[in-house]
Amino acid sequence: MKKNYLNKQNTGLLIRIDDVTDHMNWELMDKCEELFDNYEIKPLLGVIPNNQDPEFKNFPKRENFWGIVRNWQKKGWEISMHGFNHIYETETNKNDYFEYGGKSEFYGQSFEEQNNKIKNGLNIFKKENIKIRSFFAPNHTYDFNTFKALKANNIINVIDGYGLLPYQEFGINFIPQLFYKEIMLPYGIQSTQIHLNYIKKKNFDNLENFFKKNQKKIIDFNLVLGKVSNSLFSNASKFILEKSLKLFRAF
Ligand SMILES: [Zn+2]
Repeated sequence: MKKNYLNKQNTGLLIRIDDVTDHMNWELMDKCEELFDNYEIKPLLGVIPNNQDPEFKNFPKRENFWGIVRNWQKKGWEISMHGFNHIYETETNKNDYFEYGGKSEFYGQSFEEQNNKIKNGLNIFKKENIKIRSFFAPNHTYDFNTFKALKANNIINVIDGYGLLPYQEFGINFIPQLFYKEIMLPYGIQSTQIHLNYIKKKNFDNLENFFKKNQKKIIDFNLVLGKVSNSLFSNASKFILEKSLKLFRAF
């Protein structure tokens, strides 16, 4: 049975753009928008609702940011909540849910603290008339209170995790996010992360070639959610693949 799950219907890549705020590398964001329109790609954008990250504040500011976000949503792009203020307050010591380690905006904080951040972030989107169905934390770092707080605010999709296919755990849908580079696996459904603030010109050209080559395999968030609802295959594949992928990722 398992073999049948990993077929063409279960192959696709969601393009995830990280660290979208009023202060960012707008030169590349504008170029990206052009590419997405040309290749009919509907990405998922991780928008920070209340960006306080001093590093990002060094980038030029774009006026009418929320109007631009609303326009992206109108085009069918998925707006995701990427943390609340992108300020790291805690150190995980690899005790975070995915055992990635590093600093965190959420890990180790009380349910009330995490719930407040998530609630306040969602309120900003609501005020700006932007619909949010998913979340991913800065630096991939979560603990159980993060998931509890997300669920308390009716957000059950997290764009992060191991595996070749979306899976469910604690009532949360995890959409695996595997690689730092744009790599197309022959099978599986994952998202890729693209940090425009750190990307080099040369790599940006590679991105266009990648979109061109894999246009048919790039899927939007609605399609991903459709795959999640077929949770039978996901949970089977997750446990089989988790260990080997952790190893694979280490290289
Ligand atoms: Zn980030």
